This record gives sequence, structure tokens and C-alpha cells, in this order.
Amino acid sequence: VRFGQKDHIDFADDLDLIVKPEGLASNLERPFGALLGSGIPLFSIGGGIFRKILIDILTDFHLSRGYKIVESFPIVSSELYKISGHLEFYKENMYILEIEGKEFAIKPMNCPHHILIFINLLQKYRQKIKLPFRIFEPGRVARFEPSGSLHGLFRVRQFTQDDGHIFIELKEIKKEMLRIFEDEVVNIYEKIFHIPIIDSDLKLRLSFADFSELGKYYAGKREDWEIIQDFMSGVAQEIERKYGIEYYEGVGEAVFYGPKIDGIARFGEKEWQLFTIQFDFNLPIRFKLPNLISEIFEKEIQIYMIHRAILGSIERFLGTYLEYSKGRLPFALSPLQVAVVGIKTGAKDIDRKIEMEVKGIEENFKSKKIRVASILQDKTGIASLIRKMQTTIKPPIIIFVGEKEAKEGKISIKYYDYNKKEERDERMVSLERAEKIIENMEKGIKELTGKVYRLYQDMSYLL
Ligand code: ZN
Repeated sequence: VRFGQKDHIDFADDLDLIVKPEGLASNLERPFGALLGSGIPLFSIGGGIFRKILIDILTDFHLSRGYKIVESFPIVSSELYKISGHLEFYKENMYILEIEGKEFAIKPMNCPHHILIFINLLQKYRQKIKLPFRIFEPGRVARFEPSGSLHGLFRVRQFTQDDGHIFIELKEIKKEMLRIFEDEVVNIYEKIFHIPIIDSDLKLRLSFADFSELGKYYAGKREDWEIIQDFMSGVAQEIERKYGIEYYEGVGEAVFYGPKIDGIARFGEKEWQLFTIQFDFNLPIRFKLPNLISEIFEKEIQIYMIHRAILGSIERFLGTYLEYSKGRLPFALSPLQVAVVGIKTGAKDIDRKIEMEVKGIEENFKSKKIRVASILQDKTGIASLIRKMQTTIKPPIIIFVGEKEAKEGKISIKYYDYNKKEERDERMVSLERAEKIIENMEKGIKELTGKVYRLYQDMSYLL
């Protein structure tokens, strides 16, 4: 039940990120959700821009951290999941289908695919493949969830993980896990999304196995689990010591192949699962990696895997972020970035001048690949237009051109200050000032990857 308050689906609808499941396809006389099925999101044009740019940023970021980018398709023979143990320990979360009498599955996790790529590389290029070896994929997966537990974008049946796997020796795991936290987690949340990780009410959950379920939900031997879980406690203690971030144990929250550290934040009543860093001592053995690696490197190597996702599921992250920010997306990811509003006076000559100014500003930003749109509005309608924009599409920057601005070749700006989390106004300033504000909004991501992400698409239908 909603009491007039918007939830993340409403925010996503306002920004045209998704096709709202409750919305009616009137010509088909059915809600979109009924045509798609429960827990299956459909991204629209605003969502297309959001996803494209976010994945571009994440891809560049991971490349800069030594990851290699790969891609795997969703349907694959269940032979692969027999070896990985998914069919034994994870089957109730999987969709199984039959093709020409053979069993296939829809990919629930990207890891087995990444392991195959790693095996192939090792065989072909042998010692040229160096450890730790990092693989990244914005990978789409499908997992069964009972319909009763589905909830907006928070819990869906198909989603995209910012998924990375690292093949690594034991002696380097602690350093690598700390690096993932200090570099990847802190930077991605702070620089892309303006979410402070250090000094927030973030807690780490040590997600451990419930030993009474060993062999049923968890692979491997109890002694091994105990050693690895102790090791993970050590990593969490180190993060607590260095950054004052507390941790607690969540027994029964582990993945079938190993324990994990999950970042859990709280805002308002809600718990928000952020990143996950997982220690896997099972899959490398199941895929016989130790033998292969020891043979290639001509020494005994105990190979382990780290699975990590920084945003987790992009869909779940987006849902929570929309509620956290009340529908305010970062500049780079906003469907409409700049709205230019001409304030009409009723006097023909002046209005023509205003219109020309507005078009000129729009063209200027368009040429710089900023998603800009313009509108001309009577003075009396301005307040309600601003209110409408600020409660729905939330362009980070609104530029006004009225009589005074047009005469003096200036603009007035209303923009969102992402650091202070408030609106700001600047009157009668130059167009260069607006460009400076944009550069400031793009600064965090530029620090992350060395690039700015501009992709023009006509979003004028939103205005
Ligand atoms: Zn994985």
C-alpha cells in the first residue's frame, strides 16, 4: 500500500527508465506486467541511456584495474553446471529447459563461463597468463524467485551483475580483497553515485555457512569452511581497524561455494545490500584448476577464486538508489541533463529574441553531446513547470532565459548540488558558467576513468 508517497517504480516511471508493470497497454487491454511476467523488468529509453553509460563507465574502470572484459550468453548446456555444482546445490534457483532431448539451463551465475575462458587461455597461452587473473562482465543472469518474494526492481527474476572473478593464490587474497574494498567499492560508490562509503552507516556482514546444511546447500568440507571463514573474519577485522566499519556474522548467508563479505547499508527503515566479495575454495577444485595451473607454472599452486560484484545487481541497485535519492540520478546517467526554458513575455520582438537565445543554447549543448531539450513557457506557467520538472524528470541543470537575460546575453541557472544535496540558483551569469557546472558534475567519474561520458540522444519528449 502506498500512501501518496512515490516508490522507486514511480521514480523510474517518471524518468522513463522502465515500462511500469502496472501500466496498461490499453490497445491490448492488459497491463504490461502481465505481458512480461512477474519479476521481468523492461527498460525504456531513459533506462537504455542509464544502462549504456553506466556499463561504459564500469567497463572502463575495470579495464583500468587490470580486468579483462568478456561476454557469455544466457542459455548453456547443463553439463557446465553439473561440474560447477550448481545443479547439485543451486537447482531450485535455476530455470532448466530441454532442447533436442538435451538439458540446458539459463545462466544463473557467470562464474562457470569465466572459468571456461580461463582454462582455454591457460592452455593456449600458458605462462603468459599471469596471476592474479581478473575477468569482468556486466553479466545478465536469471534466477528463480518465488512470485511472493518479487518486489519492484529490488527482487527480480532476471538481472545484470557487475560481475568480476579473480583467479588468485592464497597469499595474495587478503591484499586483493582489501584492494577491492578500498579502491573498487569506495570509488565506484563515491565517484559515480555520490554515496560516501567511509563514514556512512555501512556495516559488513560476514555471510557464513550453516554447517547443518553442509552437503545440501553448501559444497565442501567443514574443516575447509572453518579455515576460510576465519580468514574472512581477518579481512573484516582489518577493514574495521582501518576504517571503523563494523561487521557482524550472518550464518546461513554464504554462497554454496564459499563465504562472503557483504556491504549492508541502512537508510530509513530499509536495509540496502551493496557490494559482495566472496571467497571460493570449491569451484577451482571442481574444474580441476589446481592440476592444470601447477602443470603450466611448474610448481604447486593452490588456486582460489574471488567473486565480487560492486553494485551487485544493477537493477536492485537502481531501485534502491532511486528511493535513496528520491529519483535524482547522477548527471552522467540522467536521461535529460539540461532543460532550457524560455520565459515568454507576450511582446513579439522580445519573445523572438528569447526563442533564438534558447535555440542557440540548446544547439551549443547538443554539439557537446549533452542531452538537452528546450521549452518556451508563459511567465504565469513557469512556477508549475519548474515544480513538474523537479518532481518528475529532475534535470540536474535548468537554464532560464527571460527578457533581462536575452537582452544582456546572460542566463539564469537552477542546478542540483550533488555534494551538498540541495538546489542552487545563480542569476544573470554567462553560458560558460553552466559549462563549468557541468564539468564539476562530471569530475568524479573523470577521476575514476580519465574520461567524460557524453552521449546525445533526443530526450525532448520528456519535457
Ligand atoms: Zn561468481
